[in-house]
Amino acid sequence: MTDWQGKNVTVAGLGVSGVPAARVLHGLGAKVTVVNDGDDARAREQAAGLEALGVTVRLGDGDTLPEGTELIVTAPGWKPDKPLFAAADEAGVPVWGDVELAWRLRKPDAAPWLAVTGTNGKTTTVQMLASILTAAGLRTAAVGNIGVSLLDAVLGEERYDVLAVELSSYQLHWAPSLRAHSAAVLNLAPDHLDWHGSMEAYARDKGRVYEGNRVACVYNVADKATEDLVREADVEEGCRAVGFTLGTPGPSQLGVVEGILVDRAFVEDRHRNAQELAEVSDVRPPAPHNIANALAAAALARAYGVPASAVRDGLRAFTPDAHRIAHVADVDEVAYVDDSKATNTHAAEASLAAYESIVWIAGGLAKGATFDELVAASAKRLRGAVLIGRDRALIREALARHAPEVPVVDLDRTDTGAMLQAVQEARRLARPGDTVLLAPACASMDMFANYNKRGDAFAQAVRELGA
Ligand code: ADP
Repeated sequence: MTDWQGKNVTVAGLGVSGVPAARVLHGLGAKVTVVNDGDDARAREQAAGLEALGVTVRLGDGDTLPEGTELIVTAPGWKPDKPLFAAADEAGVPVWGDVELAWRLRKPDAAPWLAVTGTNGKTTTVQMLASILTAAGLRTAAVGNIGVSLLDAVLGEERYDVLAVELSSYQLHWAPSLRAHSAAVLNLAPDHLDWHGSMEAYARDKGRVYEGNRVACVYNVADKATEDLVREADVEEGCRAVGFTLGTPGPSQLGVVEGILVDRAFVEDRHRNAQELAEVSDVRPPAPHNIANALAAAALARAYGVPASAVRDGLRAFTPDAHRIAHVADVDEVAYVDDSKATNTHAAEASLAAYESIVWIAGGLAKGATFDELVAASAKRLRGAVLIGRDRALIREALARHAPEVPVVDLDRTDTGAMLQAVQEARRLARPGDTVLLAPACASMDMFANYNKRGDAFAQAVRELGA
């Protein structure tokens, strides 16, 4: 669909993807109707802005397919089982997500995409990748959740050689024709299953990122499900499966040998079978899961032809985003670390694995998760635990089952001041050399506006300890 003039396009959902999509489509000459479930003050404000341009907006009814719709462009979060999509299906109307729209609107000479998905580590990996590509002298951007939006990257004035693109499982679900240069699935753990319907459907949507890859499908050797997805993908001829591992790499893999990140997949010198890329200490923070992220980023950059020296320079230049294993301060020989972004059990398990003796601050909204596996895997590292938030009883019970000797402080409060008390309690439990780690394994919205605010409250509380 290249001629947009007069096309009847329905945009499903206002918000961060819907509003720009509606503006762009309207600008291309399409007849745009936006449908939105809610009609709160924010929605009304956004609607007013669009209506001023001549876009039709229907608030409070996201389930009725507007008469004459030829295409739906949906916000990625809209669940596939919504009646709107059943109606579209019945009427033979295609449904695109924001990624599909950006992909279709890209210019003929557009920059190729290096795509990253996975349950955890996407943002970090994409930023590392952009840092590496920049170090190689390429014009690039980290695109997706943070940084530049996809539509801006594709349609804006700025020219790019290559894009480092973060994709969620929702976005992939609605992006049937996306074809990346190369892509990585970092890991697969149960998350967002209520949206996808099942683990199989979730994995299938993640696996879409490999479809049509031209150069490399990057998978996690330690996570067989990611390798299975590569095997099932329909790729271009000559596209290679490239693994990353924290151990010694096999052929066609990147891995770690004696503290050095090593590439055995893209070796420039025919007389050698491995290429040194960087030292583990070049990766910040040098936690195991983060080294895995660095290897995945390196694999994609190498697939694009970036030299080894740029991998090292790019990793050295990378600074992790806030609230992702951020070292806040040392107080009385105890390190305080903010991993507020560990909003699910898989992420929290990775961050707990990075420290030896931990006072763990956890709790919040569990989103249907269970905590037995996480607590059992981490029990031997725990000096103590301080629990906050609405669903903390689930973690307390798992601790009782798998770590009965670990002292637990259960803070029966969800007001924002609870974080200061949690940090004070953690300080009492900690011994010199320990780490007090905020890795909640839960979402934050019972107590805070978002994980940033939760991490900020932690950092503020730590500063008050030190004062
Ligand atoms: P995403 O964009 O996928 O949410 P982030 O890079 O923002 O990922 O990291 C989110 C959290 O996930 C981090 O704070 C850390 O706790 C955890 N994490 C990061 N990388 C990994 C990984 N490779 N495996 C497991 N957990 C990870």
